[in-house]
Amino acid sequence: MRLDKLLANTGHGSRKEVKKLLKQGIVQIDGAPVKDGSIHVNLDKETVTIKGEIVNYQEYIYMMLNKPMGYISATEDNKERCVVDLLTEEDRMFDPFPVGRLDKDTEGLLLLTNDGQLAHELLAPKKKVEKVYWAEIDGKVTEEDVEAFARGVTLEDGYVTKPGKLKILKSDSISEIELTITEGKFHQVKRMFLSVGKKVQKLKRLQMGTLSLDPSLKLGEYRYLTDEELNTLR
Ligand code: URA
Repeated sequence: MRLDKLLANTGHGSRKEVKKLLKQGIVQIDGAPVKDGSIHVNLDKETVTIKGEIVNYQEYIYMMLNKPMGYISATEDNKERCVVDLLTEEDRMFDPFPVGRLDKDTEGLLLLTNDGQLAHELLAPKKKVEKVYWAEIDGKVTEEDVEAFARGVTLEDGYVTKPGKLKILKSDSISEIELTITEGKFHQVKRMFLSVGKKVQKLKRLQMGTLSLDPSLKLGEYRYLTDEELNTLR
């Protein structure tokens, strides 16, 4: 890994700040001062220090984001704003990506990491990881809908969903629900409601597996997972 990327990824500032650090000549590789950030280092074989303090590399990064509307679940796009644009430059240096996708107009819990193995495990259909959504529905959600979702509904393309747990929070001309599903098909929640003739007005993910959205996170805010959250998720 490049020395400047290593220093930025280990919390020693933005690329600009790291450049300044290097200029000062206080960064050393195996005791020799280094000013060129483009040099490649291997921490298995070399020791990097700043003012004599050893730099330890953290390979993986895990963050929960309260995704706001208007952002797509991608790392880059020519036209749209992407969820990684909400991260600091230092965190983006880890090359995190969103685990699964929330629609542009969906809010809520999105896990961002650079740990491909964990992402794969959370998304593998056979793992049946539960996702919990809150939604506002145009129309009266009924007990028949609860039963239909529990059996599995047929989407417009003929796909029959796995059973979903539908909880009615408010049944009125505008209803509120909580839905737990174990799949992640394209627009799944919206299409499940369409199959019973209803439209999702607002959608927010509250939970993915054992990970719950931290209610103190405002839309667009994120934080690192705690060790406990990470250990129970794995
Ligand atoms: N289901 C949807 O319809 N949209 C999402 O963003 C997530 C689940």
